[in-house]
Amino acid sequence: MKNNVYVTSPLLPPLEEFIPYLEQIWENKFLTNGGQFHQQLEKALAEYLGVEHLCLFSNGTLALLTALQALRITGEVITTPYSFVATSHSLLWNGLTPVFADIDPVTCNIDPAKIEQLITPATSAILPVHCYGIPCDVDGIQKIADAWGLKVIYDAAHAFGVKKDGQSVLNCGDLSILSFHATKVFNTFEGGAIICPDARMKQRIDYLKNFGFAGETTVVAPGINAKMNEVQAAFGLVQLQHIDGALAARRAIYERYCELLSDIDGIESFSAPDNVEWNHAYYPVLVNESYPLSRDQLYDVLKEENIYSRRYFYPLISSFSMYRHLPSASPQNLPVAEGISQKILCLPIFPDLSESDQDRVVAMIRQYSAASANQPLVAQVDGEVA
Ligand SMILES: *Cc1c(COP(=O)(O)O)cnc(C)c1O
Repeated sequence: MKNNVYVTSPLLPPLEEFIPYLEQIWENKFLTNGGQFHQQLEKALAEYLGVEHLCLFSNGTLALLTALQALRITGEVITTPYSFVATSHSLLWNGLTPVFADIDPVTCNIDPAKIEQLITPATSAILPVHCYGIPCDVDGIQKIADAWGLKVIYDAAHAFGVKKDGQSVLNCGDLSILSFHATKVFNTFEGGAIICPDARMKQRIDYLKNFGFAGETTVVAPGINAKMNEVQAAFGLVQLQHIDGALAARRAIYERYCELLSDIDGIESFSAPDNVEWNHAYYPVLVNESYPLSRDQLYDVLKEENIYSRRYFYPLISSFSMYRHLPSASPQNLPVAEGISQKILCLPIFPDLSESDQDRVVAMIRQYSAASANQPLVAQVDGEVA
């Protein structure tokens, strides 16, 4: 029986490094509400990421919900259909209307050229995603935002540690949110953060994530409970000691895939521009027409070999029932996103993916490629007898 290879596997530090933190928590009996580990992790992460202020959250979705509240966003928000559903769901939960703009075929990020035509008097913000950790056209987006007086909130759930021209991409726009979910590059089991530029905004966000409390008996806003607890924060401090090694391991796996897959016709890898320090959070490929199998066939044959890839992102958010009635959700409005969602496949990548498992993934992809001239196998996949 071949071992399972999942699309990702969580980064976990040695357990013995975590135990002393737990012992301290047991001793202090300080479990949440901005304890010492929460304070330490906010400082340590802001420093590591190269950002001014950072507010920890219990997960990335609550960070998104709160970011929209913090900026008092109203009406319509222009966003990408090519993301995880939490991006658009955060708009619906705030009573806002998502307006979907098509994406750029190279980066898979929102295409600034498609934004302006979707602006109406009700538009108040743009919610882009740095998809796979590859930065958006942040300058193009900011220009539009400035010209039309719109706020920009980046869903940077994939962009932990990503830099452009030596600067953190998390400093772009008005606010950025991170996710520290188990599947992300840096995790605190569940967790997230808002990155914000100034101390006053941090204060407002800190009130909002704690019911709106600004003092023992003062409530200044209808806040929510989105605080990160001390166990999560302590875990984050331990994780941070290991993140550089994890990023280096991801990079090595990425480079090895690029090399091994480069001669397979119809399998197209992604790369980040030269001025970007990428985190290799995912290994997406496009399964193009010149590959003998469709994306779904390749997904299925990998699965039969216990290799679990992921169609990420498929289907588009705009195709789900709570969105598809929107005028901007029509497939004719989103041809690039539609096309990519039909061809995209994310291959396993995580710091302790072994070379032999990576070789298995590549061998399966190669086995069906035209280069191997392995026609009978293709016929089998189609359910026909060769
Ligand atoms: C993971 C993710 C989220 C949600 O973060 P959680 O921490 O799981 O709530 C939001 N947006 C994108 C693009 C994500 O990948």
